[in-house]
Amino acid sequence: MSSKIGVDIGGTKIRLGVISENFDVLKDITIPTKLPVYSYLENEIQKLLVEFPEVDGIGIGTRGMVDHKKGIVLYEKELEGWEGTEVKSLLEAATNIRVEVNNDANCAALAEAKLGAGRGFERVICLTIGTCLGGGLIFNQKVMNGAHGGAGEVGHLILYPQGLLCGCGRKGCTEQYVSGTALRRMIVEKRVIDPVTNAFVTPEQLFRLATNDQQNAVEVRERFLTDLALVISNLQAVLDIDCLVIGGGVSESAHDWWDLLMDKVNPLKLQPLEIRRALFGNESGMLGAALLVRN
Ligand SMILES: [Zn+2]
Repeated sequence: MSSKIGVDIGGTKIRLGVISENFDVLKDITIPTKLPVYSYLENEIQKLLVEFPEVDGIGIGTRGMVDHKKGIVLYEKELEGWEGTEVKSLLEAATNIRVEVNNDANCAALAEAKLGAGRGFERVICLTIGTCLGGGLIFNQKVMNGAHGGAGEVGHLILYPQGLLCGCGRKGCTEQYVSGTALRRMIVEKRVIDPVTNAFVTPEQLFRLATNDQQNAVEVRERFLTDLALVISNLQAVLDIDCLVIGGGVSESAHDWWDLLMDKVNPLKLQPLEIRRALFGNESGMLGAALLVRN
């Protein structure tokens, strides 16, 4: 029985898994991200290959923008030295095993489309609402990478021209309004404070307070859900997807806002659209990375 290694490279943590042919997770470890990323990664993978010599494919999902054909990290500013790394050719030479590299949000989307909430649908988009806003497009179980590896960058759709400055250097990107970071900014601006500790609330607490009708919390929730509904409607207009999956850290509090979001999205729908909560949590990036080398 052959198995695959899936790796999810984040800014602070790297998650590595070994997945069997039947999608059983044989190994699942999380380690801190260390620089330089490549040599550290190769070393960790070599250790896994000693333990699982049957591995015949290695999938890597990483933050940043990726040239999936060449397996090169095209753009990544956080992890020094990682940008420009020819991951695929270096790792294939080191291990003699097939390697595929893609963006972390694309990997998460692939896991949801193939094994998770989007299973059975033809055209799936997965939004990962965490610290940032990631997106991945999966059509007929394949990642849509775009001409330059930049497809599915939902976080950088411009929502408010001349709006807040984004990390990409432009103004008004969706990520500045629909993400955990955006919620934290609005919590400070609206001074949404925990009545007991007197500290600013977390996004999760914000939605709880809003459910209990705390006025400032309700206003932040309103802004967030209105913007998210707009984005969903625009994505549908362009892509006519049949399933949209929402995951990421912020989605963990969806029980407090899901119905309100549907109330906002439903009148904007142009076609039928199934909207679902992600089935997987943080493991989706690692699972999806392993799926990159499935066929
Ligand atoms: Zn941007």
